[in-house]
Parts: sequence; C-alpha cells; structure tokens
Amino acid sequence: MSSKPNILIIDDDDTMLDSCSQVFAKEGYKSATAEDGNQGLQTFREIQPDLVLVDLKMPGKDGIQVLQELKTIDPNCVAVVITGYGTIQSAVEAMKHGAYDFLPKPFTPDELRFIVRRGLERRRYIIETESLRRDKEMMRKNFVSLVSHELRSPLAAVQQNLIVILGGLSGDLPEETKKILQRMSHRIKGLISLINDWLNLSRIESGEMTVHMKPVRLPEILTEVVDLVQPLADENKVVIDWHPPVDFPTILGNRETLQMLFTNLIHNAIKYNKTNGKVFITLENTEHHAKVTVKDTGIGIPQEKLPLIFEQFYRAKEGKRVEGSGLGLSIAKKIVEAHQGTIDAESEVGKGTVFTVWLP
Ligand code: ADP
Repeated sequence: MSSKPNILIIDDDDTMLDSCSQVFAKEGYKSATAEDGNQGLQTFREIQPDLVLVDLKMPGKDGIQVLQELKTIDPNCVAVVITGYGTIQSAVEAMKHGAYDFLPKPFTPDELRFIVRRGLERRRYIIETESLRRDKEMMRKNFVSLVSHELRSPLAAVQQNLIVILGGLSGDLPEETKKILQRMSHRIKGLISLINDWLNLSRIESGEMTVHMKPVRLPEILTEVVDLVQPLADENKVVIDWHPPVDFPTILGNRETLQMLFTNLIHNAIKYNKTNGKVFITLENTEHHAKVTVKDTGIGIPQEKLPLIFEQFYRAKEGKRVEGSGLGLSIAKKIVEAHQGTIDAESEVGKGTVFTVWLP
C-alpha cells in the first residue's frame, strides 16, 4: 500500500461522490469516482485501489453484482457497502458476498472516516499477510534447493565413491576396512533417504505436487509399487498378496504422490513384519470411494501409540531396530488429505497392522 491510500467510490449520486471525495482529500487520501457499476469495475482494474466504497442500490448493475465481480478480479480487495434506510438485510447479504463492512445512509464525515480507516487497516493487514506468505514460500523454496544441492548431491557423490571402492574397482581391501566402509555407506544411505523424505514433505506441504490432479488407475499404481518393493520383500522373506481388480474406475489424483503414499505403507508393512510374514493388499470400489487396505502380519503397534504414528518424526519404540526417519506416515497422511481422502490404522501387537485409505 502506497503512503497515500487510494479509494474508489462507486455511487450513482453525484452529491455522495463529491462529499466523500472532499472528506478523503482532507484526510490526505487519493480518490477516484464512478457513477455506475460497469464504470466502477473498469476504474477498479485501472487504479487497483486500496479500498472501494460501493452503493448497494444503483441502476443497472447493483452493488451486490459489483461486489461479486470485484472479488473475482481481486479476492483480497476490501469493499465497504453503502446502504440506504431499511436495507440492513441487503448489507448482511453484501457481507456474505465478501464485503468487509457497511455504512448506513445518511452518515457523518466522522462515521465515514472511522469506517474507511478500519477498512484501510484491514487492507494493510492483508498486504502484510500476503507478503509474509510469499517470504515463507521463498524460504521454503530456498530450503528445498539448499537441501537438495548442498546436502543431497555431495552425499550422493560420497555414496557413489564408496560403492566404487567397495566394488573393488580401486583394488582389494582388507576385511576390516571393508566393514568400516560398508557401515559408512549404510549410514549415508539412511541420510539420503531422510533428506528425500524431508524434501517430499516440504513439496507436498506447499501443494506443489498435488495441484495437478488427473484421472489415474489405482490397480496400475499399486502393481507398480508392489514391483518396486518386491526386492525388499524377498530380502525380508515376506510374501505380498495382491490381485489387481479388473475394470476398476479411474479416480482423480496425482500419480507421483499416490505412488509415494502406497510405497510408504507397503514398505512399512514389509519393514515391520516378521520373517515369513505376509502383506495383503486389497482395492475395492465402495459407493463414494476407492478403498485400499494394506494389512501385515508384523509386530503391530500398541493401541495407545496409534494416534501418534502420523506425526512427524514419531517412531514407536517397538520398531526402533528397523531403520526409518519417522516421516513416512506423516507424508502419507498429507497426500491422502490433499486428495480429500482419509487414512486410518488398526493394529494388534504381535499380530499385525492394517492401514485403510479412502480416496474419493
Ligand atoms: P518410519 O517407518 O520411517 O519410522 P513412519 O512415519 O513410516 O516412519 O512410521 C512411524 C512409526 O509407525 C514407525 O516408526 C513404526 O513405529 C510405526 N509403524 C508404521 N507402520 C507400521 C507397521 N506396518 N507395523 C508396525 N509399526 C508401524
């Protein structure tokens, strides 16, 4: 907002336009006037005022219509409606359509000044909030690029070199050195995976990954995820039971994040399972949702800890021997919420856990 606030008055009454303009001039505000709705909207686009005063009763486009159009041009615009006698009801209607305040006719210069000052305060607050939001978004983007370039890339390079050395490409290694390097490589792998989770969480929180929703095929996505985690299942001697339904309707979603969601759930079902355990995955079409369940025969989660597992960095002590960042389920929950869905978990210690996801 510039040092001199700019106010637009839209009213079909010349006297009203003149008297308001005079009051504003004395206050040190700039003002512009328009005699009907269309002219008002045109001027609004041209001068982008800090505040608009709109008369509700005007020939042609009435105040409510003008208000609705103003809000589509700039949802953050601050508008005060001027109402005649006995039109409080329409003032209430105007507030429902986004007017910030109303001023009943006739009003004194003091009343006008008071309402306009309050409206300008509101405008200042909106501008500050918007600028803070932009700063926060900028910081988030800087954070993402800092983490990915300054942390992930060098770690990946170190990891790559370790793989080369461990692969014997730079000569034979004494057994003890090999063990040390293997431990290092393992720790770095954990760090890279933590950084990836962090970056994903930050990108999902920004909405960047879920703005583009397209029709997606869940049986296809789940099959891809199962193929992806199969090597881990084999390593842990866990069997995955998954029979993709045929002719399953598409849902509106973001393929990349849905893959991430199911990878996290199925990965956990394998990680927190027992040797020779099983993971059952089902996909059903209920009346309003696609329902996915991921059930395992693993270590389970105590009842009192179930409400905590979707929190960032939470790890139940029962599963601490398994590696993890404690971010997977919070990412999963955010993805489900971005799809307007729900997720919940039921579990019995020693018997297993079932995660259910409903996607509209
Ligand atoms: P991470 O697995 O990286 O620790 P998550 O956010 O994916 O983080 O999960 C949070 C915690 O919830 C895990 O540390 C574990 O204690 C518990 N958990 C998640 N999935 C399961 C599961 N299928 N069986 C048992 N415990 C689980």
